[in-house]
Amino acid sequence: MNFIQTRGNDETRPKAVTFSQAILSPIASFGGLYVPETLPELGEEFLNKHLNSSYKELASDMLSRFEIDIDQSVIDEALALYDKFDDSSNPVPVVKIKDNLYVSELYHGPTRAFKDMALQPFGKILSSVAQKRDENYLILAATSGDTGPAALETFKNQKNIQVVCMYPANGTSDVQRLQMVTESASNLKVIGIKGNFDDAQSALKNLLVSPSFKATLKEKNISLSAANSVNFGRIIFQIVYHIHNYLELVRQNAIEIGEKVYLNVPSGNFGNVLGGYYAMLMGLPVEKLVISSNENNILTRLIQTGIYDIREGNLKLTTSPAMDILKSSNVERVLFGLYGASRTRELMEGLDKEKIYTLSSWELEKLQEIFVADYCSDEEGKEYIKAAFADGYLMDPHTATCFKAYETLSNPKIKSIIYSTAEWTKFSPVIANALTGEVDAKDIIALESISKEAKVEIPVMVKELFNKKIVHNRVIEKEDIEKEILKFL
Ligand SMILES: *Cc1c(COP(=O)(O)O)cnc(C)c1O
Repeated sequence: MNFIQTRGNDETRPKAVTFSQAILSPIASFGGLYVPETLPELGEEFLNKHLNSSYKELASDMLSRFEIDIDQSVIDEALALYDKFDDSSNPVPVVKIKDNLYVSELYHGPTRAFKDMALQPFGKILSSVAQKRDENYLILAATSGDTGPAALETFKNQKNIQVVCMYPANGTSDVQRLQMVTESASNLKVIGIKGNFDDAQSALKNLLVSPSFKATLKEKNISLSAANSVNFGRIIFQIVYHIHNYLELVRQNAIEIGEKVYLNVPSGNFGNVLGGYYAMLMGLPVEKLVISSNENNILTRLIQTGIYDIREGNLKLTTSPAMDILKSSNVERVLFGLYGASRTRELMEGLDKEKIYTLSSWELEKLQEIFVADYCSDEEGKEYIKAAFADGYLMDPHTATCFKAYETLSNPKIKSIIYSTAEWTKFSPVIANALTGEVDAKDIIALESISKEAKVEIPVMVKELFNKKIVHNRVIEKEDIEKEILKFL
């Protein structure tokens, strides 16, 4: 299958590229993204066929329908990484909360957040493509906390790939920071930046346009790639679990094949729910995709009003930081799917220039046929964490936002699947605050108190972090970043 471009073709690049090309250089003509030219049809027959399949069997068959240019042996190796999840027979448990409400737990991988679902297999595939081409790639990542650990974990010791990961020195939880700074491999470099996530991101942007940096890459024969959430190599693995979740509900006798469900997804860069959108287009019976946000409610406003407006440009820091976002990159793929390339280019260029775009009423109607959206404040989120805990379910602040949208937007007669994107261990100070009222506890204290309160064990890989040797202890000013990276290369 070939991949085409959301903003059309600029005639300097090929009109269509293979999967390998799309994942190595994910930015397309006019700054657009790659999307599959067609999607495979996976109707009821496919669902029936996989009623008793394992996660890996389902994933393997779904991937084969995309006909990507990756050897089956590499795909098998990539999918085998799901064996490292808590339950090797089922990496994604789906838990019943109450009648008609289910939670899909996407955080049972090595770094305890949903990023592992895609980055684990993606790392294997990208490295194998680089080896096959005998090329060396540098991956630069600025992280607010979950992508960094997952990227380091997947690329450590992978051939032909080097990773530099920048994080805001005071902007992550202790667990997130330790997951990065204790990760030891000669192809990884982790750098703390004095400042917030925006500072880390702008340091990265400056680097990408620096002539001396480019010259060094050229001299050393290193190309740049990206592992961020617009990479289709990640998106493709984020289609699988939506189908899996649906089949889990069938297996639990909650629904019959063909019955529609809500998928309720805590969203930031829109990669998780984009997988659900593609699953729906491929034939999964979905009533609506429910978009949950925090007070950075840009997606709620888009879906409710048709206006994407970031002119004010102020990002709020919330207790669900993985969704603190103004520019939600994967929305572009939906615009392309609904309105085509030339309109997408017009809208996205408008956003770049004017910081706003407005859909026509016809366009808004099309969007609302598929999506509904609501947002949840930190205070409300805390109440949902408390209430769920009283009912016996422990969840993180990102997952909590979905409970608001569930109440305001879902028809209670139709089954809902809420996506849980992080384990409680990753955001323990916020959860401890919700459950016991303690304020500003360090992670190690909060983990212990939640563990006692909820009678759950702290997973070994989280506990171990606090005794592991710190191998990356550089925290620098963002002006010094280029020097630091050139030293590493
Ligand atoms: C990345 C992330 C999200 C947002 O996912 P998108 O694909 O960017 O919409 C939500 N919750 C957690 C915990 C995350 O790490």
